[in-house]
Amino acid sequence: MFYFENISGKKVMKSSVLAGLNHFFTTRESVIKTKEAEFETIVQSNRKLFEQYLGAKLIYPSQTHTSNVEVAIVGKDNYPETDGLILTNKEQAVFLNFADCTPLIFYDGNIAAISHAGWRGTAGMIGVKTVKKMVREFDSNLENIKCAIGPAISFCCYNVGEDVYRQLITTVKNPENLYEIRNGEIFVDLKGINKRQLIEFGLREENIDVCPYCTVCNNDLFFSYRKENATTNRHSAVIKL
Ligand SMILES: [Zn+2]
Repeated sequence: MFYFENISGKKVMKSSVLAGLNHFFTTRESVIKTKEAEFETIVQSNRKLFEQYLGAKLIYPSQTHTSNVEVAIVGKDNYPETDGLILTNKEQAVFLNFADCTPLIFYDGNIAAISHAGWRGTAGMIGVKTVKKMVREFDSNLENIKCAIGPAISFCCYNVGEDVYRQLITTVKNPENLYEIRNGEIFVDLKGINKRQLIEFGLREENIDVCPYCTVCNNDLFFSYRKENATTNRHSAVIKL
């Protein structure tokens, strides 16, 4: 279940499935990523606020719609062409940035990760790749891994071309209820496809929490690249062990 909280008066969203992990999704008022000059001051002040709150340095990778997953290393701030970052230390806080793409936060009780699953990341199965790396390199147990699927453009609003549809739907064995034709247009459930990939890989369904908010329909809370004409403002998924 997703719910809202305030950190020093700034609205953030959390998922109950990630209990025990310091985490939140920022909203419009707690924005920490932008390229727009008018938002720069507020972004810097929000980052400072959250670094104090978390007691750690915030770092983020250079997301380029790949399905590359790396591990955060103390002292290393730059992660080029990286769309998934695993956090195993307590000195850093990691955030990734979104405006329609699907945020995935993973937690196994010891380590955590965030992945950026737009259509390209989802087609590249970045969620499954992140989990595989957690299992292979850090002995995570699939049965214990919790996943929060954050705010993203949802089934109501996400129409795609046939090529994208095909690249997405072929990533799951059972595509039932994950797409629909409406007035000749193909709509896909990007959050649902990510969830199905993870279940088919071995995560427990009850360990996956899917956010009910759509970035287009709930544009008062979150940013939407499509609705806001390629905005550079982003909401973020934030984790700290
Ligand atoms: Zn919608």
